[in-house]
Amino acid sequence: MPELPEVEAIRRALDAPVRAFPVERAGPAHVATLKTFDPPLSALDGERLAGAGRRGKRLLFPVADRELVLVVHLMSAGRIRYLAPGAKGPKTPAFRLRFEGGAELVLTEAGSKKRAGVWLLRPDALAAELAHLGPEADELDAARLGEILRSDSRRLHAALRDQRLLAGIGRAWANEILHAAQLSPYALTGQLADDEVARLAAAMRAELARGLELRERGAGNPQTYRIHDRLGQPCHVCATPIARVDFEEHTIYYCPRCQTGGRVLKDRRLSRLLR
Ligand SMILES: [Zn+2]
Repeated sequence: MPELPEVEAIRRALDAPVRAFPVERAGPAHVATLKTFDPPLSALDGERLAGAGRRGKRLLFPVADRELVLVVHLMSAGRIRYLAPGAKGPKTPAFRLRFEGGAELVLTEAGSKKRAGVWLLRPDALAAELAHLGPEADELDAARLGEILRSDSRRLHAALRDQRLLAGIGRAWANEILHAAQLSPYALTGQLADDEVARLAAAMRAELARGLELRERGAGNPQTYRIHDRLGQPCHVCATPIARVDFEEHTIYYCPRCQTGGRVLKDRRLSRLLR
């Protein structure tokens, strides 16, 4: 699942190429992928894009006069690529934008479930679409993060992934950030001490920056994640095997020594069923 570092790396790579030529033809799009019908995709034909932007995990492609914005959310399995003129592309992408001169921006999605989305929005509709998002996760200082977390008492891992509180973090970077901050994924947001919030704010910035730097260099998941998806492998700090627990539809990875004082976290859904 692409999160803030991955989507930002994509944004940086696409920013110049999408501006180079006007759009020749927008679409077609898979019926499940295109989330809006008015204005129609054909409204982009002949327009020049102003570059690539990002809000949380969404990519934004405003047209030059800013009166229309193309929004792309990759969800878990979407992939967006810029193809040079003549490059071989997928036969039936979920969405295609063809530029004058022959280059293409193509969105594909692995698997049969179509979750990735494309929206074409006017500025007021864009503002409404993005209104629920919290501040960008890589731009928060400890004071602001503390206010946000203490506004509600939640398990920390779930709170970090809640886009209404903070925009940009999903389960992989929540695992990386909580390990770097030496905090339990099950810690309650309302009970964090000031020094813990400060550690979390610092870890959030450092980990998201580390991720962006690696992704810009083309690093894959095994080169990027040190905790996520590493069950049983030694923690890079203390060599304790990384543990895993299922929680709210998500799998959490953590180090029992660095993060939970040696305690092994229990699957709360299971304990609830057994009670
Ligand atoms: Zn450790």
